[in-house]
Amino acid sequence: MKILFINLPYYGHVVPTIGLVQELVKQGCEVTYLIPFDWKDRIADSGAEFYGYQNHKQLSEQIKNAYAAADSIIEQFDFVIYEQFFFLGKHLAEKHHKPVARVFTAPVTNKRLMEEFIASKGPLSIFKHKWIARAFTKDIAKNIPMKTDNWLDEIIQNPPELNLVYTLREYQPYEEEFPDAQYKFLGPSIYERKTHGFDFVKSERPVVYISLGTVIKGTVFFFQNCVDAFRGENLDVIISVGQKFDVRKLKNVPQNVHIYKSVPQLDVLKMADVFVTHGGMNSVSEALVYGTPMVAIPFVSDQPVNARRIEKLGVGKKLEYSAANKNTIKNTVLSVALDSDIKTNLTKVQSLITEAPGNKGGAELIVRYYNEQF
Ligand code: UDP
Repeated sequence: MKILFINLPYYGHVVPTIGLVQELVKQGCEVTYLIPFDWKDRIADSGAEFYGYQNHKQLSEQIKNAYAAADSIIEQFDFVIYEQFFFLGKHLAEKHHKPVARVFTAPVTNKRLMEEFIASKGPLSIFKHKWIARAFTKDIAKNIPMKTDNWLDEIIQNPPELNLVYTLREYQPYEEEFPDAQYKFLGPSIYERKTHGFDFVKSERPVVYISLGTVIKGTVFFFQNCVDAFRGENLDVIISVGQKFDVRKLKNVPQNVHIYKSVPQLDVLKMADVFVTHGGMNSVSEALVYGTPMVAIPFVSDQPVNARRIEKLGVGKKLEYSAANKNTIKNTVLSVALDSDIKTNLTKVQSLITEAPGNKGGAELIVRYYNEQF
C-alpha cells in the first residue's frame, strides 16, 4: 500500500507521527511524508520518502502550499493520512476517491474544548473573532466545498471514519463523545531521540526537572524563583530555560541547580522524581510514559486542559502561574514527591499505556481499514 502522509511544520504535530510512519514502513507500506522543504531532516528517521512544499510563516499559506502539493501527487497513492490541522485532508482524499485517516497528536477537540483553547491566550485566540476565522478559512478554501465556513468547526464537525489519537481514552476529556468505532486511542507516541552533549551526572540525590517547553519564554522572575526555591536542599534541580532565555540573568545559582538551554528531556524524565511543566501535550505524554509525577503550571492553549487532566488522573498537581513563587514551587514539588497515591496512579497509567495499541497497533488499524474497503 502506498500512503501519502500530509502534515504542517509544527514540532508537536510532527514528532509524535514519526513512530507511526516507522511502523507502517515495517509493515510493508511505502509512505511519502509531505512536509516543508526545510523540515526534511526532521522526518529523516521515519523511513518515509520525503516530498516537500514551500514553507511560510503564516499557517494559511502553509495549508495552501500543502494542499497544492498533495493535490498534485495524490493520484499515485492508495491511502491518505493527515494531521488534524491540515483540515482539508478529508475533502482532498474524497475528491480523489482515496480512503483516509486522520491523526491527532493531542486529545480530540470538541466544541467546548475548542472554545476553551480559543479563550486562552494561545495562537488560536485570534479566532475568537468569528469573522477572522471565516475570512481565514475562505482565503484557504474559497473554491473548496466544506461542511462549515470555519476551519475550526470543520475539524470538529467533519471527521473522517478513522481517527487515530495519541493519548489514552482515560486522558481524553469528554471521552464519551468519541465513539470507539471512529476514534482509536493509541496512547502516547514517544519517539526516542538521539542525545548529545548533556553533562549532568546523577548522584544519589533526588532530581527535580523544570521546563516550560520550547514555545513559552519563561520570565527571569519565574526561573529565579525556581533557583531560589531549592537553594541548600539535598536534591538536584535541572532547569531547561529554553533557547530564547538569557541564562546570565539568573543570579546566585547554587551548585545543586543546573541550568541548560535545552536538555534531552526523555533521559531527564527517566531520572527525575518530579517534573515541573507548563503542561504541553508532548511533555505530559512523556512524563506519563516514564511515570514522572508532575507539577503543572499551565499558560495557554491546551495547557490548562492538560493540567486539569493531570489532577483528574491523580498523577500530579496544578499550580497557577500567578501563585508561583519560591515557597509555593518548593511546597508543591515536595508534596507531589511525597504523595504515594500519585505514584500508584502513575503505575496504573503506565500499564494502560503498555496495553494501548501504540504505533504498532495504529499501523495495523490502518492496514486493516484499507483492506476492509477493497
Ligand atoms: N524538549 C526537549 N528538551 C528541552 C525542552 C523540551 O527535548 O529542554 C522537548 C520535550 O521532550 C517535548 C517538546 O520539547 O517533546 C515540548 O513539547 P510540548 O508539547 O510539551 O510543549 P511546547 O514546546 O510545544 O510548548
